[in-house]
Amino acid sequence: MEALDGNAIAGELYTAFGKEMTTASGRCTHCGARSEVAELVVYSRAPGAVARCPSCGSVVMVLVAVRDESRVHLPGLELD
Ligand SMILES: [Zn+2]
Repeated sequence: MEALDGNAIAGELYTAFGKEMTTASGRCTHCGARSEVAELVVYSRAPGAVARCPSCGSVVMVLVAVRDESRVHLPGLELD
């Protein structure tokens, strides 16, 4: 499966958060690495996507599309 970056989910994140999120930064709760959302390693997985920490590979963000609505879960990311 081809890895993308956080820019691939910019549209979904904008919809979910109501603002541009690719330049937002956060901290991985697994390894403590700081990264911008655009730097996350994203794997599309219908009907959504998962984003992994570029440092340790842990899943830090899960996008799920429910009908036309994007839901975002942050199992391992503390946004600034
Ligand atoms: Zn990490």
